[in-house]
Amino acid sequence: MAFYFIFWDGVGLGKNDPVSNPFLTADLPTIRSLFGGNVPTAKFKKFISETVSLSPVNTTLRVPGLPQSGTGQTAIMTGMNASKFVGKHFGPHPYSTLIPVIKEKNLFKQLHSIGKSSYFANGYPQKYLDFLFGPKGRIPTIALSYLSAGGTLNSHEEINRRSAISADISGTRWHELGHPDVKPITPVESGRLFATLAKNVDLIYFEYFVTDHAGHSQDMAMSVEMLERMDGFLSGILESFDYDNDILLMISDHGNIEDLSVKTHTMNPVPLVVIGKRHLQLSSRIKNLTHVTPAVLSYFQSH
Ligand SMILES: [Zn+2]
Repeated sequence: MAFYFIFWDGVGLGKNDPVSNPFLTADLPTIRSLFGGNVPTAKFKKFISETVSLSPVNTTLRVPGLPQSGTGQTAIMTGMNASKFVGKHFGPHPYSTLIPVIKEKNLFKQLHSIGKSSYFANGYPQKYLDFLFGPKGRIPTIALSYLSAGGTLNSHEEINRRSAISADISGTRWHELGHPDVKPITPVESGRLFATLAKNVDLIYFEYFVTDHAGHSQDMAMSVEMLERMDGFLSGILESFDYDNDILLMISDHGNIEDLSVKTHTMNPVPLVVIGKRHLQLSSRIKNLTHVTPAVLSYFQSH
């Protein structure tokens, strides 16, 4: 039994408008095949089949203003309404008073306490790791969670050994990042690798932040490319997916890429995607970001 957790940053349910919404212009055969030929949008936000569910998830958490990554990711990772706790949406880094909460209540740590293992599959360039652990470094929510649960962050070495995944799925920028020895792979190969790594642990986690970056850039070509990479990644995972026993959950912290007419985040709900025969056990419990971690934990407690 594998549990795939994919977090993609800045992906909401947008309008049915190909000028502003790259979901409508990108070539997304895997995503379309999951949802009867459709892509997730504000109009097509709910879908349930025997093996897949799509549903909208609220990210505003009853706090005014545009949702941000620091509070949104903390809500996902801990189940706490971090925006309400801080009194505003805050990001991209975790707000100082949230750091002890993240360290104590994150998903990886809670899984560990019920005897379940997890693996944060991203691999970081050495320069970024040096920055993170340097005097000015601020560790992002998901990495902080994993570290506080006793995990270590992967570098280019694990990517080269094929035991970690590049943050952009394909690893096309490693030469610019100081590691020309790391060769790019196709999104499908990257998905297959992720599926192989998933066999060793109870839950495997991948963070894909380039979707948020593409949204802020308001760059349609880049946005299309980043969505198509995710589509290929999913197809690589699904090749060996055991629908009876495996689960794949995909969630985002706030909208962004689905509306390239603005360079900011959006208030749009985000699509929750759950794949696997037992998808309803998760999707029926998740209406806003704070429900994700409790739903995942109760899933593990009942299996
Ligand atoms: Zn952002």
